[in-house]
Amino acid sequence: MASIHITFPDGAAREFASGTTALEVAQSIGPRLAAEAIAAKQGDRLVDLSTKLESDGPIQFITSSSPEALEIFRHSTAHLLAAAVTELYPDAHPGVGPATDSGFYYDFYREKPFTEEDLGKIEAKMREIAQANVVNERVHFPKAEGLKVFEQMGEFLKCELIQEKGDDVFSAYRTGKFLDFCRGPHVPSTGRIKAFKLLSVAGAHWKGDEHSHPMQRIYGTSFFSQRDLDAFIHQMEEAKKRDHRRLGKDLDLFSIQDDAGPGLIFWHQKGGIIRREIEDWLRDELTARGYDLVFTPHAMRLHLWEISGHANFYRDDMFGAMKVENEEYQLKPMNCPGHILIYKSRARSYRELPMRLAELGTVYRYERSGVMHGLLRVRGFTQDDAHIFCMREQLEAEVQACVEFAHLVLKTFGFEKYQVELSARDPQKPEHYAGTVEEWEVAEGALMNTLKRMEIPFKYMPGEAVFYGPKIDIKLVDAIGRPWQLTTVQFDFNLPQRFGLEYAGADGQLHTPVMVHRALLGSIERFFGVLIEHYVGAFPVWLAPVQVAVLPISDKHAAYAREVLGALTGAKVRAQLDDRNEKLNARIRDAQLQKVPFMLVVGDREAQNRTVSVRRRESGDTGSRPVEEFVTWVQELIDTRATSW
Ligand SMILES: [Zn+2]
Ligand SMILES: [Zn+2]
Repeated sequence: MASIHITFPDGAAREFASGTTALEVAQSIGPRLAAEAIAAKQGDRLVDLSTKLESDGPIQFITSSSPEALEIFRHSTAHLLAAAVTELYPDAHPGVGPATDSGFYYDFYREKPFTEEDLGKIEAKMREIAQANVVNERVHFPKAEGLKVFEQMGEFLKCELIQEKGDDVFSAYRTGKFLDFCRGPHVPSTGRIKAFKLLSVAGAHWKGDEHSHPMQRIYGTSFFSQRDLDAFIHQMEEAKKRDHRRLGKDLDLFSIQDDAGPGLIFWHQKGGIIRREIEDWLRDELTARGYDLVFTPHAMRLHLWEISGHANFYRDDMFGAMKVENEEYQLKPMNCPGHILIYKSRARSYRELPMRLAELGTVYRYERSGVMHGLLRVRGFTQDDAHIFCMREQLEAEVQACVEFAHLVLKTFGFEKYQVELSARDPQKPEHYAGTVEEWEVAEGALMNTLKRMEIPFKYMPGEAVFYGPKIDIKLVDAIGRPWQLTTVQFDFNLPQRFGLEYAGADGQLHTPVMVHRALLGSIERFFGVLIEHYVGAFPVWLAPVQVAVLPISDKHAAYAREVLGALTGAKVRAQLDDRNEKLNARIRDAQLQKVPFMLVVGDREAQNRTVSVRRRESGDTGSRPVEEFVTWVQELIDTRATSW
């Protein structure tokens, strides 16, 4: 028999008989590797362990620590799910079932909805199939023949996929009675999958097209160890407790109204207070840092978006144009062209640069109805947007100032950890980018030098830049370790050219300015959502809509309570008197549920001594203090924007 020459990642090489399977090769190395491997990599190609090796080349085994492992493992769990569902519910027709970042799902077409109870049954059936350690067998079909097989099974959705994507000879996977059109690879048998859980069921549509078949999407997740699964479930429960949609309702912060449309946010009174605090802080900082605040229209001629290019490459993300007096107008998806028109409104000299134009600019973007999510993904939102027009030699200082500003945002709002990414061009494909190679080198150099000089660790990501310029992204990490992309500092070689921007240099010649887009909070709506989840609605005093609740023990103490209230409101503390005819405990509970930072209980003793009995949201009763002392302390917490006290 012919032999093949196999090389291993450590450089070793061995001869095997042609037709030896990847699993047999793993076994020849050791039983432990054979037990741990879930798939193999032949060159760049991921294959099953059952694959017969017939040519020379490198081989690598995929184990739980390989970067590709989890996706293969989870996709195999999705097959296990579909095997269980089709066995229990013959009227369910499988659609697609990919792995996701946090698990997997499988879509089924079935008239009857799956219930919570069904999920339990399905999970039990999955365990049964896993315990039986059923082999995931790869089979091959000539297209016409395979189509017939799936047709006879009544799997019309699979037939549609095979028609569209199937090769002349396509592969499928058999797990017991379940057969799936699939490229693989998969774990060798279902017994490998032990730590998994079904999470929820939600509505979806075939191929994401809302006019096509309604599908039921069953979500689940799986991990290589029970410990990892438990940690994930714990994290999910933590996230659920923090869900800003529920807290937004309980704390009366914001709403999304069906009559108005999806993805459009109504900021209620209390949410409005928090937004005003955020914006006031931001405006003060912008002014102190040499930004000018501008305002631009919400709707502008479509023609403007043709010049900027958005009407072409950004069209799918925009609201449709509207007609006014036979001309088309466009709701703005971005603020940049507005700021550019201000820059362009007259001739500019180098003496005016850097020009930093900032706007809390509300933009509208089209998101499909299925993808919107509370405050995090919406159709209308306000960016803390700014565009900096400057000369090349001013770039590094401007980038550094942006990064410092971003740091201050994180600190001010109580985030301690963050991650930084630098997205650069793919140097192999200069033709994919606007701007010259030299310009890119200057811009990427400015970004990188700044981060290095500031000793900020960052991830360098070549090929991740958008076509018009490199960028720095800063992700903050919240109280339960979730990263959120908010801040971006982005170069633009494209728009200054498209709009023909110029300035007169010291040399008397006209030059093109460099343009930087930057947003710190990103979208105020999204930032608010992140804040709510980070603090579980218990905001720092300076942001809390009600900072102090004054609670008289009984009617007798109402007059003194009003005096205390007056002292607080006179010092611009947001205080509220709760003198409802309810038991004190009930009123304390209500203030606690509303996450009011301080509750002041006043009775005979307090009135007599001119004190207040202070209850803290976090730790309950902390004893009494003179009124003036308390007011001064709260004022200080507010003025310093303390995030802990
Ligand atoms: Zn598959
Ligand atoms: Zn912009």
